[in-house]
Amino acid sequence: MRNVYMDYSATTPVKEEVVKEMIPYFTEKFGNPSSLYAPGLEAKDGLTKARQQVAELINAEEREIFFTSCGTEADNWVIEGVADARKNKGNHIITTKIEHHAILHTCQYLEKHGVEVTYLDVDSEGFVSPADLEAAIKDTTILVSIMMVNNEVGTIQPIKELAAIAKSHDVLFHTDTVQAIGNIPIDVKELGVDFISMSAHKIYGPKGIGALYKRAGINIPSFVHGGAQEKKKRAGTENTAGIVGFGKAAELAKRDLYEHAAHSDKLRRMLWEKIEAEIPNITLNGPKDFTKRHPGNLNISFDFVEGESILLLLDANGISVSTGSACSSESLDTSHVLNALNVPPEKANGAVRFTVGDFTTEEDIDYVVEKLKEIVAKLRELSPVNGMEGWK
Ligand SMILES: *Cc1c(COP(=O)(O)O)cnc(C)c1O
Repeated sequence: MRNVYMDYSATTPVKEEVVKEMIPYFTEKFGNPSSLYAPGLEAKDGLTKARQQVAELINAEEREIFFTSCGTEADNWVIEGVADARKNKGNHIITTKIEHHAILHTCQYLEKHGVEVTYLDVDSEGFVSPADLEAAIKDTTILVSIMMVNNEVGTIQPIKELAAIAKSHDVLFHTDTVQAIGNIPIDVKELGVDFISMSAHKIYGPKGIGALYKRAGINIPSFVHGGAQEKKKRAGTENTAGIVGFGKAAELAKRDLYEHAAHSDKLRRMLWEKIEAEIPNITLNGPKDFTKRHPGNLNISFDFVEGESILLLLDANGISVSTGSACSSESLDTSHVLNALNVPPEKANGAVRFTVGDFTTEEDIDYVVEKLKEIVAKLRELSPVNGMEGWK
């Protein structure tokens, strides 16, 4: 049996070059970067280099990068941090209905503490309307947080335009770029954003390490209190090996960006064309224009069947895909993202996300289409609603 991993938006394997760079920081370079003797300084050099590598990926300054334990922490930090730092100006935050739970659940938490949150609608392909953002801004608005690339349907937002609207009202702008870095070019200066969140494990780096870009001159309180690490903004002895791995992954992501995106896009289009040709009664969720979605993303609803059943049967054939986002794989609620795109619940229940990446091959595509075709046909044969009048 073949093993085919098609869930690159959930996580990626760590590249060998990245692992190689990390290993010495577990062994001979194990020193605490806060220590003043040689092994400490050696570890500190590793952090400095990684900070440069991550900064270069997004055209930021080294001093604007703060390492965190993951993308989720960066999201929590910026939302809570701005709510606190700007509380004298106002208590209103604007975000969207399709954000990652790291943003949505943080906003919901703050709502219990007196913060007012507007969740912008999106259109049927997942795009936020700049006019809606403009209309939602009030005197009390302190922060706009809109993700750059959606993790379920891949929609790429017009961040530059949205950030300019926030800026014209003197409102800070954050974007979660966890799904964007390494897949589309990002230049924080050109985008005009104040904060971005990043994570290493979605770009062939290790799990458990992320970063917040905070534009120089903007101050928010620290999120983890304790020692003086990360310029006193994020205490706790650094995950040195993880940071070094993130740095290397960022360097490779910058170097290989176009090649990587072209490879993903080619295989993703191939997968879609073959599925479309072989399997009837399907719908592509998210942007129809592939240039406006994550290069490796497909999200497809299969009529009359449950996405979960497809996932389990694909798994039995060595194929890994997801329904909704990995974070909600244990909840039976339909995807909040597909809901926001107005995908009817029965179609949302039949949705499967395929995400390809650097190690996906054409043979993988053929194998997945072959198995998927068999599985969907079998499930439809057994489905009580198959072909039912009025099924929509
Ligand atoms: C994966 C993901 C996160 C969370 O990153 P972790 O490092 O896993 O905490 C946040 N936002 C988006 C869009 C993601 O895809």
